[in-house]
Amino acid sequence: MNVLIVYAHPQPRSLNGALRDFAVRRLEAAGHRVQVSDLYAMQWKATLDEHDAPERDPREPFHASLDSKRAFAEGTQSADIAREQEKLRWADTVIFQFPMWWFSMPAIMKGWFDRVYAYGFAYGVGEHSDTHWGDRYGEGSMSGKRAMLVVTTGGWDSHYSARGINGPIDDLLFPIQHGMLFYPGFDVLPPVVVHRTGKVDAARWDAITHTLGGRLDTLATTAPIPYRRQNFGAYDIPALTLKDDVSPGQTGFAAHLA
Ligand code: FAD
Repeated sequence: MNVLIVYAHPQPRSLNGALRDFAVRRLEAAGHRVQVSDLYAMQWKATLDEHDAPERDPREPFHASLDSKRAFAEGTQSADIAREQEKLRWADTVIFQFPMWWFSMPAIMKGWFDRVYAYGFAYGVGEHSDTHWGDRYGEGSMSGKRAMLVVTTGGWDSHYSARGINGPIDDLLFPIQHGMLFYPGFDVLPPVVVHRTGKVDAARWDAITHTLGGRLDTLATTAPIPYRRQNFGAYDIPALTLKDDVSPGQTGFAAHLA
């Protein structure tokens, strides 16, 4: 299969750099074709602004989504955005790898989503009716593709457990996995999270790469996180709240799991 790794770490000689190299070797050895978007090495522009729609009328106020829509539809987006969209079309599976920085992804990767996910490409897709609220949350331009996070954290496993001080890791990753990956249609695989990275000796490295290697070997067969799909009966439209008989009494992120 075709695998795109979108990768954000400023230092190639880091734990993340070593894990990225491990992943590329493992995937290629299994016969997959791999592309890496190494965002720091590419000097990826993180900010979405008027330069992303170079043909826009400069006399008009810049509008982040409408200018994105026009530039995407007319084929006039900046070249770096179009290249990343082409990699997404090419990929069967996309891996997003990053160190957790302030409970989320590094800003450079957030800027990749802000810019590459153009209006008409990743959102604003599909019809709206009484039974269908656009192609999103389980449908959309990334339908049929798989996505997986590979995340390193300084905090320990227990800090991210159900009652841990940092909050449960599934909750922290929900906006990324559900909001940024499931939204445009990806099947989202459970993440590979490497905790407590302050101490990684040879034995730890072996354990980490054993786990990561196993997950890379089973990219095509691992069951995705069972998020509920928007247009298939679980939600009232247009309120987009769960119907009363779905996850009754449950609130919060976990209610959106089947
Ligand atoms: P490195 O610092 O490169 O290495 C970590 C360990 O791996 C070291 O023991 C090192 O010896 C070993 N190692 C390095 N290279 C290799 C190699 N080639 N082979 C084998 N072992 C190697 N943590 C949280 O939990 N939550 C947060 O919200 C959070 N916010 C942060 C915000 C910022 C701005 C920063 C800088 C850090 C934050 N952290 C946070 C910590 C951060 O998540 C970790 O520092 C990061 O995940 C470690 O990954 P790294 O690739 O940078 O590791």
